Amino acid sequence: MPVVQKNVSLASMNTLGLNAVAAEFAEIHTKKDLVSLKESGFFENSSLFILGGGSNVLFKNEISKTVLKVSLNGIDIIEAGGETVLVKIGAGEDWHQFVQWAVNNGYGGVENLALIPGTVGAAPIQNIGAYGVELKKVFEELEFFEIQTGKFKSFAADECNFGYRDSIFKRELKGKVVITNVTLRLTKKNHKINISYRSLADYLENKQIDQPDIRDVFNAVVAIRRSKLPDPESLGNAGSFFKNPVVPKSTFKKLSEQYDKIPHYPVNGENVKIPAGWLIEKAGWKGKRVGNVGTYENQALVIVNHGGATGEEIYQHAMKIQNSVKKIFGISLAPEVNVVE
Ligand SMILES: Cc1cc2nc3c(=O)[nH]c(=O)nc-3n(C[C@H](O)[C@H](O)[C@H](O)COP(=O)(O)OP(=O)(O)OC[C@H]3O[C@@H](n4cnc5c(N)ncnc54)[C@H](O)[C@@H]3O)c2cc1C
Repeated sequence: MPVVQKNVSLASMNTLGLNAVAAEFAEIHTKKDLVSLKESGFFENSSLFILGGGSNVLFKNEISKTVLKVSLNGIDIIEAGGETVLVKIGAGEDWHQFVQWAVNNGYGGVENLALIPGTVGAAPIQNIGAYGVELKKVFEELEFFEIQTGKFKSFAADECNFGYRDSIFKRELKGKVVITNVTLRLTKKNHKINISYRSLADYLENKQIDQPDIRDVFNAVVAIRRSKLPDPESLGNAGSFFKNPVVPKSTFKKLSEQYDKIPHYPVNGENVKIPAGWLIEKAGWKGKRVGNVGTYENQALVIVNHGGATGEEIYQHAMKIQNSVKKIFGISLAPEVNVVE
């Protein structure tokens, strides 16, 4: 049975480097731990926050909620016949280490998602995506612990309602389930190499790699990400702070009359996605520092903690950015980061 501790510092458990304290904290290493906690009444007393690697959270204040850290490990091949392999991964496994494991074993499908911080269990929460690939492309099923009933259940992809940085776990099931493992289907041969993303294709072309394999793509993604994004170990951040807004074509048309170089990507016949980083940069926030908080000098979408910032300060900074983008472009930016009070 996991020990329930009081007043635990979360400073080393979030990539923004916020020195928040959890009123109550427990860590689970096995599925049995969840069952024991349920039997002890742990889930009945207070509201809960489930923590993975803390790379997509902003602890706004001290945390009055009970924090449950998920540290379930294990990578198991559960089916290996044919051209694909089914891999079941414990929710607490480090995502990037898993991607490395896949590439080292010659399994394809997740190489574009290299170097995304965090745990495997959190990957379905916002259907992580990068460089033209989203988790849902390789997703087979997941298992979760339903807090109210104490039962373990499984969901296939269509039950997860995956969308852009979205799933049922960010909505109807938020805080109600603990994801315990995720099963992905990876390719063993005839890999579907995806270099549709411009900077990835350019990088490989510059390296004169015209027939990239999964390791080439993995290496390229790692190199590009290292050059663009701050390493949380040296500069606290939670990656992209806002989602890229999706706007109706008519809104985009009006904006493009004023800003002819506005980057955009068609989402479907009616809507267009605009990079939030571009909007924030045009609003004058790129590299701007106010006290201990700022936006990253190479990517305006990343809010950084220059050291000693509080969650509240970062939150207020984000709101200022949000307001000025709204004022200038009429577009409401929605946070991608989970704000925890
Ligand atoms: C430098 C940097 C770059 C990033 N780049 C990307 C990127 O390219 N693409 C992208 O999609 N994201 C990116 N992110 C965001 C982040 O890495 C991902 O969202 C990641 O999946 C979060 O994992 P985590 O374990 O840290 O989750 P946490 O931050 O701990 O939690 C995130 C949410 O998931 C919930 N949660 C976590 N684990 C579980 C579980 N086992 N069961 C139920 N709920 C759970 C939490 O309650 C919370 O709501 C980046 C972040 C950083 C710091």
